[in-house]
Amino acid sequence: MYDCIIIGAGPAGMSAAIYAARKKLKTLLLTEEFGGQAAKSAEVDNYLGFTKISGAELVAKFHEHVDSIGVETKTATVESVTKQEKFFEVKTKEETFQVKVIIITSGKVPRPLNIPGEKEFLGKGISYCATCDGPLFNDKTVTVIGGGNSALDAAIELEKHASKVYILNINEDFQGDEIRKDHVKASKKIEILSQAQIISVGGDQVLENLKYKDLKSAETKDLAVDGIFVEIGWTPATKFVKDIKLNNLKEIEIDSVNKTSIDGIFAAGDVTNIKDKQVIIAAGEGAKAALSAWEYIITKK
Ligand code: NDP
Repeated sequence: MYDCIIIGAGPAGMSAAIYAARKKLKTLLLTEEFGGQAAKSAEVDNYLGFTKISGAELVAKFHEHVDSIGVETKTATVESVTKQEKFFEVKTKEETFQVKVIIITSGKVPRPLNIPGEKEFLGKGISYCATCDGPLFNDKTVTVIGGGNSALDAAIELEKHASKVYILNINEDFQGDEIRKDHVKASKKIEILSQAQIISVGGDQVLENLKYKDLKSAETKDLAVDGIFVEIGWTPATKFVKDIKLNNLKEIEIDSVNKTSIDGIFAAGDVTNIKDKQVIIAAGEGAKAALSAWEYIITKK
């Protein structure tokens, strides 16, 4: 029986793990990967103590810290969390664990386009991470799909590698910050196709083209591309836990001490309804969740 299982190892989960371990809770950190969305940030310049650091380097430091404190970690996908009378059961594909409290820090997963060819060309031209896969498209033509800050960031990142970057925005204008919009509009490499909706993708062995609908003229048009970067938002990763209260964005609702609607389950970071999705905020929230989990355990005794 564990005291605490933390699900997900982004900044919130790793910070929770450090706090739980320091409170001497028997803790297990279950995660598909270390770092989460933060690891995919090309540059982080607002984390206290670091004027400028890549997301990958920053989360590597978090990971080192978790390892140094001796937290047990396992790479696994959590399939279900079920409440028993006096404990929870956490199931992965391979194992079942019993635990007194759970901290959910599973973050968000990228939203897919759900168009013909998307699954087929995933990893063969279609990507959900410009910072990870951008260098594979040196001197190639790429298209970013989306109209928010993620799409703008991806285009700015890809401009360093590709010879031509299109942004297909379904709306007339972008929803991102002015500074990013100005950069993209001024770029000689980036071409904005607004009110354009991707319909399908095609190619022989690898991605070669896409079809989109020009929403102004209702015409269907073709675009030759080597790569497509999907940046249309993120969905909270909560499908392993049923009957937990979510808000209208499908984020887990928490109170000011990270309690969820289920007694004994706490949550932190981007998977929750906390307003600002930032690395430093997720790390702080993870610490809070672990302290609340500890208090829950000692007061239950
Ligand atoms: P957003 O939800 O902000 O934007 C998603 C965009 O994709 C919208 O323009 C949306 O249009 C469009 N879209 C949705 N579905 C489709 C579709 N099927 N086809 C084409 N377009 C589609 O998501 P982001 O990931 O950009 O940002 C999420 C949050 O994270 C925001 O609050 C953002 O500001 C923040 N962020 C902050 C960063 C930073 O500060 N460094 C970096 C990146 C993100 P519509 O609205 O019409 O559905």
